[in-house]
Amino acid sequence: MAFVAVVCLSLLAIDFWNSWQSRSDQLQQMNVAASNLARAMAQQADDTFKKADTVLVGMVERVEHDGTDPADVARLRRVLALRVAELPQLDGLHVYDKDGNWVANSRLTRPENLNNAQREYFVFHRTHETRGPHIGIPVKSRTTGRLLIPVSRRINHADGSFAGVALATIHVDFFSKFYDSLDIGDAGAVALVLEDGTMMTRRPYGPGVVGRNMLETELFRSYTAQGPVGTAFIKSAQDGVTRLNSFRRLDNYPLFVSAALSKDEILATWWRETLWHSGGVLLLALIVGFIGWRLVRQFQLQTRTEAELRQARDALETLNKTLNTLAMEDGLTGLANRRQFDVALDSEYSRAARTASTLALIMIDVDCFKQYNDIYGHAAGDECLQTIGRTIARLASRRPGDLAARYGGEELAVLLPNTDVASAVMLAERIRSAVRDLKIEHAGTADGFVTLSAGVDALTPAAGKAGQPKELIRAADKALYAAKSGGRNRVCASTVQPVPA
Ligand code: GH3
Ligand code: MG
Ligand code: MG
Repeated sequence: MAFVAVVCLSLLAIDFWNSWQSRSDQLQQMNVAASNLARAMAQQADDTFKKADTVLVGMVERVEHDGTDPADVARLRRVLALRVAELPQLDGLHVYDKDGNWVANSRLTRPENLNNAQREYFVFHRTHETRGPHIGIPVKSRTTGRLLIPVSRRINHADGSFAGVALATIHVDFFSKFYDSLDIGDAGAVALVLEDGTMMTRRPYGPGVVGRNMLETELFRSYTAQGPVGTAFIKSAQDGVTRLNSFRRLDNYPLFVSAALSKDEILATWWRETLWHSGGVLLLALIVGFIGWRLVRQFQLQTRTEAELRQARDALETLNKTLNTLAMEDGLTGLANRRQFDVALDSEYSRAARTASTLALIMIDVDCFKQYNDIYGHAAGDECLQTIGRTIARLASRRPGDLAARYGGEELAVLLPNTDVASAVMLAERIRSAVRDLKIEHAGTADGFVTLSAGVDALTPAAGKAGQPKELIRAADKALYAAKSGGRNRVCASTVQPVPA
């Protein structure tokens, strides 16, 4: 039983381990995918800003060099229009003087908003002397209403004082469209975030996404904690979905991107496969367990049945032996009974015929036993017979083939294979005197004790003649009769001629 259980549990354990391993693989692949996605996004953003920024560098150089005379401005405008036409991410290019007044732009029309002095980027450049690019928080275009990311550079006078700002505006859409084209599943998310914590755009997109403050989000905290490249499992505060976030800073600009894949979505296939698989293995384990259990039970049953059968057989054998003994033995004296005697006589007679050996028989009869019963009672008679039986058994079983039997009533017989008349007479004589020496009182006999008479005969049967044992009995009986009529308490032998061949 324990073995069956161990097999089933092993099956389940192996399957569990396999599934867990494949889950780890899935998550590892997901990690790689998210990280690759972040790399591609960072590259795209970096390129986008770089192209706009390169244009800005040219604008700054031209304005600082050529000045803002009307002729130069006219040329500048044409150049700006050309650049905007070249770069799809650009919404417009603008030049403002030190007071925020419009100087030139890529459009051929004059803008309505002539002063941008309050814009965040303008204030930044006026108050900072750094000449590098500045990426500002997204603004809504006053002319088109579209969301724009301002990239700007400071324009200096020859003495290094603030002369104005060159501005490129980039469509937020440009990023959104790119993000929409990414394969991130239904529950994936990507974002472009300014390092000061301002959300530039994200997918899924929604109203209020652009410009949202990200400082308090788990994503921003992970980014600040882990540095330019990192990953984190983050449960979204917005939709409750747990995602693997891979984030990466842009190489040249103070922004970072984040690519997030939904853990549930990534593991959905794994779950489906695992469920099917585990279901199958569980079923298999159940079947194996059931069959194993049935087999073990059958085996146990069989073992028990075998044990019971063995017991029954042993009991039968014992009973058989007892019955055999009962069938072959005389109940009173314990000597062989008449049936056994007959069988033994037949087989010994045949054997004597085969081997041409002599078979002897002693017939014994207790003297005046009727009287003994009359005088001492039947019970005493039985007891006397038992005593005589024991005496004969002791004397007449010296050799394996010798058989002492109760022939009937108070008549006893001793069958002696391989024995001649003389030897048989000697044994009969020993028996007779032994019984006489028991000195069992018997008032009805001449000398006052229980005695017996015996007739002896022996013959060598002729080969091939069956059915002659009766001859032996008849002859021994005859000798017994002679002993009785000779006065009892004696042994007589008669010699019967061998049956002629
Ligand atoms: P004898 O042989 O000397 O001529 O005289 P007897 O009295 O022995 O003669 P008989 O053979 O006619 O008598 C046999 C008696 O033995 C008859 C019967 O009462 C008794 N007898 C036979 N079998 C048994 C037995 O199993 N138990 C007892 N108690 N008596 C038995
Ligand atoms: Mg008799
Ligand atoms: Mg008798």
